[in-house]
Amino acid sequence: MSETGRWLQEVIKCKAAVAWEPNKPLVIEEIEVAPPQANEVRIKIVATGVCHTDLYHLFEGMHKDGFPAVLGHEGAGIVESVGPGVTEFQPGDKVIPLFISQCKQCRFCKSPKTNQCEKGWAADRHDVMASAESRFTCKGKKVLQFMGTSTFSQYTVMNQMAVAKVDPAAPLDKVCLLGCGVCTGFGAAVNTAKVEPGSTCAVFGLGAVGLAAVMGCKAAGAKRIIAVDINPEKFEKAKVFGATEFVNPKDHNKPISQVLAEMTDGGVDYSLECVGNVGVMRSALESCVKGWGVSVLVGWTDMYDFAARPIQLIAGRTWKGSLFGGFKSKDGVPEMVKAYLDKKVKLDEFITHKMTLGEVNDAIELMKHGECIRTVLSVSPQ
Ligand code: NAD
Ligand code: ZN
Repeated sequence: MSETGRWLQEVIKCKAAVAWEPNKPLVIEEIEVAPPQANEVRIKIVATGVCHTDLYHLFEGMHKDGFPAVLGHEGAGIVESVGPGVTEFQPGDKVIPLFISQCKQCRFCKSPKTNQCEKGWAADRHDVMASAESRFTCKGKKVLQFMGTSTFSQYTVMNQMAVAKVDPAAPLDKVCLLGCGVCTGFGAAVNTAKVEPGSTCAVFGLGAVGLAAVMGCKAAGAKRIIAVDINPEKFEKAKVFGATEFVNPKDHNKPISQVLAEMTDGGVDYSLECVGNVGVMRSALESCVKGWGVSVLVGWTDMYDFAARPIQLIAGRTWKGSLFGGFKSKDGVPEMVKAYLDKKVKLDEFITHKMTLGEVNDAIELMKHGECIRTVLSVSPQ
């Protein structure tokens, strides 16, 4: 392609699952995807996972002005074309879209203490949406890009600072899970909690995020990993990822923190909340041992305040939160892809269902009813 021709790209018409309004099934529509502009890449999405955060937007968060939108933020694909100023990517590269950018220049990117880049959709765009700058239209209307990613579409457009190039050998229908759930849980244990060898951990909630947290605790050398869920069908899977004990809060008529304290001589060293429920967040904190216990919030909610007794923290516990497992996204995701290819982290075991984009509402129902860990949707033929 000539240098001038390179930027004369066409609008693409393709299929996407559009969320027209909260609480309603997604509708498969033909949408128009604009060409990538300066520093942007247009990506053909090959596969995407369905994460609870997509459901949160549709059924719980219901952001005012957040519709119509294309959901999906756990995808993988292939670069179709690039806009002016893009040097790092070429058509054909395998990539993972990132809902948290890494510009490598802001004060947050320069600090080793955080992965909260100050650029990217979170800052430039509207809240969880790419409102002003969405590259999508459908039936004459602007359609928002959820979390800047919108992987429930055959094509999406992203700023290059929110795209990770991955090993060409990576199977996209597996590594898509590294776009959210698996990095989130694994990193929460390894990067945020900084689980130490020989320690005792408790993971609350055994969806993909919690199971990845179990895997992270094991990778960090935890001796005991107590898996907590109100759905006992999740325990078998938790064992695969390294859980050593299993507790269903429904089997006990005392607070779960008391049950765990009795099992562990006063509480666990690390607890990770992977549910998104403020009551469970408090229980997870209270399940930590005084003196040095660390509790990490991973589950997502922005609906309610939480409460705890100050004495819990005064007595030496630490309460932390983790976004995307604390991974600096562009650096961390390719490393996790490599760890998967080197068989150091599991991905296949998270995938309980495979469907097509057209079946996205069935995948949402499965997750709503706790009947899956991850459904991977095939979005475009490779
Ligand atoms: P999921 O729905 O697959 O899993 C949630 C699990 O929690 C289920 O197994 C459910 O049975 C269990 N659960 C529900 N109530 C419980 C209770 N009271 N006690 C113990 N277990 C309980 O969801 P997921 O995709 O694994 O996501 C988990 C959470 O992580 C969600 O809130 C999601 O929005 C959040 N999340 C956060 C980030 C982040 O960066 N912090 C990223 C992705 C997802
Ligand atoms: Zn997610």
